Amino acid sequence: MNYQVLLYYHYTFIEDPQSFKEEHLLWCKSLNLLGRIYVTQEGINGTVSGTINETETYMQGLKNNPKFKGIIFKIDEAENHVFKKMKIKIKNELVNFSLEDDVNPLEITGEYIEPAQFYERLSDPDTIVIDARNTYEYDLGHFKGAIRPDIETFRELPQWIRNHKSLIEGKKIITYCTGGVRCEKFTGWLKREGFNDVAQLHGGIVTYSKDPIAQGQSWNGLCYVFDERISVPINKVEHVVVGKDYFTGEPCERYINCANPDCNKQIICSEENERANLGSCSLSCREHPRNRYTIKYNL
Ligand SMILES: [Zn+2]
Repeated sequence: MNYQVLLYYHYTFIEDPQSFKEEHLLWCKSLNLLGRIYVTQEGINGTVSGTINETETYMQGLKNNPKFKGIIFKIDEAENHVFKKMKIKIKNELVNFSLEDDVNPLEITGEYIEPAQFYERLSDPDTIVIDARNTYEYDLGHFKGAIRPDIETFRELPQWIRNHKSLIEGKKIITYCTGGVRCEKFTGWLKREGFNDVAQLHGGIVTYSKDPIAQGQSWNGLCYVFDERISVPINKVEHVVVGKDYFTGEPCERYINCANPDCNKQIICSEENERANLGSCSLSCREHPRNRYTIKYNL
């Protein structure tokens, strides 16, 4: 295990994202890091892999920069790189929430709940826990009893909440996501919507997994991640499979993208069912002229 994977974000004002990006990319490349980083005027959100030495140099560099004071890194050991390229993209928002009236987490956000406290709160009958991720992430793994908003992208979340207000009104709300970046905005938005008791799992699911008290308990399944690993284990005490094969409903934890390049839908399925369905989610995807599975296996 000579490599590390870093997951991090930091809300901070970046006046000129373009020049920041150029400089940052040169620095990342000089450290032989691979990964993807989003840069916006409201901060950065990244995940990179590299050798232990080079990722440590990177983290120290950011921590020493007053703009990134307090930045938290979630660190996983790895055998090798988990990305093929080093990419930095400029975006409008760190997470795509697309609000007409944006929320700045530096001004308004939910209370931070540390993992051990979160673990306790999971069994509090007055608390509801909302998964702030997409359904394809939830379906592979989630906290026991967490609410699953039926959304395909993060920007659908506010409307979903407005449509399901009765579900959460009068409750203490805790939200969670992979590393915490989505909850910063989501909980800020919830507070602005008029919900009073709003909190977020500090450091997200991946931090919860590493906490010596919580040890990932009450997490069922695997956690979807945005790199070549696709998913990582969270619960250190027991492993309960919640993923279901898209075709047969059997327990399964293997994700693929639909082989139709125009579809790309993420589905959980076994190797056997992938083969039987030419890697596709539907009949029309199977018959697509550029079906990647058909091309790859020359069928
Ligand atoms: Zn498809």
